Amino acid sequence: MKIHEYQGKEILRQAGVPVPRGIAAFTVQEAVEAAQKLGGPVWVVKAQIHAGGRGKGGGVKLARSIDDLRKLAGEILGMQLITHQTGPEGQKVRRLLIEDGADIKKEYYVSAVTDRASQRVAMIVSSEGGMSIEEVAHDTPEKIITEIVDPATGLTVAQATKLANAIGVPAGSTAQAVDVLQKVYKVYMDTDASLVEINPMILEGNGNIKAIDAKFNFDDNALFRHPEIVAYRDLDEEDPAEVEASKFDLAYISLDGNIGCLVNGAGLAMATMDTIKLFGAEPANFLDVGGGATPEKVTEAFKIMLKNPKVKAILVNIFGGIMKCDTIATGIIAACKATNLNVPLIVRMKGTNEELGKNMLKDSGLPIISVDTMAEAAQASVKAVGQ
Ligand code: GDP
Ligand code: MG
Repeated sequence: MKIHEYQGKEILRQAGVPVPRGIAAFTVQEAVEAAQKLGGPVWVVKAQIHAGGRGKGGGVKLARSIDDLRKLAGEILGMQLITHQTGPEGQKVRRLLIEDGADIKKEYYVSAVTDRASQRVAMIVSSEGGMSIEEVAHDTPEKIITEIVDPATGLTVAQATKLANAIGVPAGSTAQAVDVLQKVYKVYMDTDASLVEINPMILEGNGNIKAIDAKFNFDDNALFRHPEIVAYRDLDEEDPAEVEASKFDLAYISLDGNIGCLVNGAGLAMATMDTIKLFGAEPANFLDVGGGATPEKVTEAFKIMLKNPKVKAILVNIFGGIMKCDTIATGIIAACKATNLNVPLIVRMKGTNEELGKNMLKDSGLPIISVDTMAEAAQASVKAVGQ
């Protein structure tokens, strides 16, 4: 799950990380009132969307008067903000953050992220803050410095000092930078985050260290113990199909292709997508209906896939282990009837009660293409979408 910058800054503020004073606004009027409350003389008007790169896309602007601010807030609110992370259609701006303008002397990059290779948390820093870290990693990888954190000790003062020195924090500000780095690590652990990214962390003219951007991603599997974070969820920022699927406990990810996939088990779902690609087509989604899929769940899954106008065929690939093939067959038949299915449906079922399930599909009289192997399933789907 992702949250907005202003929400991330609330979390940082509570964790003792210095952030600018700021107020969220949903209308131009609220933006003006926020600015009056903050007092100026310089404010930053920041588009709040769940994507980075807003500055380059025109979603972060400085205002030097209330009139200026009113004009900028009006321009940014409601705009379709396009950044390298939103895709070409962009994301509509519905919220703003109005902040005290910071006096920036130097911008650094700081993040805490799950490092799968070491199975630990990596603290990553760079002297090249503010810009896209992907570009820095590509062009000047030596400017990215990483420390792997031992979970027993947390980020030590020695490690944090090494990181601060490596990015050139001046001696007088090192103690503050060390404190911020240690707090970023701690907040990452305390909130079950998978990413905390501060780009930029700044050195102000007076030598203070401050976080002026905040990006958090959280581990969805740990959200049950963080109701305060779940409360930050903004459904406007999420894919509607994925939101709908989450209501039914379906693991669903929208993709760009035209073959809808309904599979039980994440591994089998990945293998199914790979096989489709191997035969030259693209999956429209990842969908794991899980081990305990009921006919109702299968029907909902069909409805969600069929809402996507790009879907030209559906491939069902089920391994009947705990889940029996006849249960899935019942679900498929019910779903076909409930949704008036009008695209080709290819079904591969293996395992418990396979014959029973296959006979049920055959006897249903529905135009289902029944296949036996993964390769046949993928080939039949690719043929059905005309590729
Ligand atoms: P992002 O583009 O989505 O990562 O948004 P950021 O919050 O990182 O803002 C982008 C850039 O705007 C920063 O790297 C800064 O250079 C600039 N910026 C943000 N806040 C301020 C501010 O208070 N004062 C000044 N002068 N520049 C700012
Ligand atoms: Mg940024």
